[in-house]
Order: sequence, then C-alpha cells, then structure tokens
Amino acid sequence: MRNKLIAANWKMNKRAGDVQGYFHSFLNESNSKGSSVDVLFAVPFPLIERSAAAVKGSGVAIAAQNMHFAKSGAYTGEVSAEMVKDAGASHVIIGHSERRQYFAETDEVVAEKVKSAFAQGLLPVLCVGETLEQRKSGVTNSIVSKQLETVFAKLESFDKGIIAYEPVWAIGTGLNATAKEAEAVHAMIRTVVAKFFGDKAAQKIQILYGGSANASNLEQLLRKPNIDGGLVGGASLDPTTFAQMIRIAGQLSQ
Ligand code: PEP
Repeated sequence: MRNKLIAANWKMNKRAGDVQGYFHSFLNESNSKGSSVDVLFAVPFPLIERSAAAVKGSGVAIAAQNMHFAKSGAYTGEVSAEMVKDAGASHVIIGHSERRQYFAETDEVVAEKVKSAFAQGLLPVLCVGETLEQRKSGVTNSIVSKQLETVFAKLESFDKGIIAYEPVWAIGTGLNATAKEAEAVHAMIRTVVAKFFGDKAAQKIQILYGGSANASNLEQLLRKPNIDGGLVGGASLDPTTFAQMIRIAGQLSQ
C-alpha cells in the first residue's frame, strides 16, 4: 500500500517572520506525527533552512521549488541541488507549469534537472500536465506521456521519485479536474512508469494531483485508486486549512 502524500507549494509567498508561527499552528492542528500520511512543504529558497529547523523531529519534509541542473559554476542567480540539500531540503519540485510557462523550461531541461536531482541525492517531484487548449483538442495523454518519457529516457530508475499531475488550467484558477478526469490521467501515468521501470516500480510510485485542490474536494480525489495525494498551492498558505487536508488524508488512510 502506498502512503498518501500531501505536499504544499508556497510558491513566492511568505517571509522569514511567518515560518515559526505557521509551523507551530500546522503541527499542532494536523496530527501528522506518527500517521501514515507523508507531508512535504515546498518553500522559497530563503525559507528552506528556517522551515527545516521548524519541522525538525516532526516527520515533515522540506522541498525546494526549483533547482539548476549544474553542480556549480557561473550561473548567476541560480541554486544547485547541493545548496538546496545543505539548507535542509530532501525534495525538489521540478517542471512546475509556472516554470515551464514563465521561465521557458522545456521537457529537455526538466529531464536534466530530474537526473541531476537524483544524482545529488534530492528526490524530485516531477510535475506534468496539459493546457486547456490541449485538453480540448483531446491530446492530454500524448502531452503528459511525452513529458514523462523525455525524463524517463534519461534515467535508470525513478525510485522514490514522485509525480504530480497538474492540469495547467486547474492551477490557481479555482477550476479543479474532477476526480474521474484526474484518475484517468493518473492511471495512464502509472502505465508509462511501468513501461520504463516495470510494474513493481509503477505500483510503488506516489502520483499526486495538483490544481485547486482544497479541503472540500480532496476526499473525492483521494478516494480514487491511482490518486495518492495532492500538491496544494493556494490552500496550503493557511496552516489551519492545510492541517485539515492532512487530517482528511489521515482518515482515509486508516
Ligand atoms: C500548485 O502550485 O502546484 C498548485 C496546484 O496550485 P493551486 O493549488 O493554487 O492550484
């Protein structure tokens, strides 16, 4: 059985002074310690160290929201996997649609980053998903498969990596995919993982849904067999709301 995983993506929100108070409330309200729900927070680079200190001993993990694929060098303004790890993160989001859309990250760049994350001991949360136009044209499966295949072709395994299916049209819009729509893509994603790395790997991998997930729609999504959790943007900014989402996942895991 796969653990449920609920991951927060703070995006470019919150400041150093917010961290302590947020985690104090969240840890008190979520009851996540000792539960079978995995919890992850993707925070802005300057908040990684502070966040890692605030969640120490709780079982909650910290992620970066991006990284450069090079180990080090003349890349002004960039941050390497090693730096992210040094600061206290164990995971990194790669290929979020906002990176693809606003920073021109191609499938090839995403593939380099995922490969480099694994090589340097960070676990990637690989984001894939189609635009509204692509969904309307009926090419969702081919777009998502290509996003995955470009990455998987460069890897020997995806062990402990995580995939987030995030339809671009559902991110930050208040429009979420229905549980049925999401489940269909998640099942397809699992077959792509099986094709590259075998059935056992495909059964182990956690596939998250992201796109306006909140405390009202999470349960329906998590009841689907191939939806193992959520990547949550807006609804993760309030510790009480996000803690409620962890409790919902916890109840379904009992
Ligand atoms: C995200 O940032 O990955 C996301 C899914 O955002 P939201 O939940 O706000 O749609």
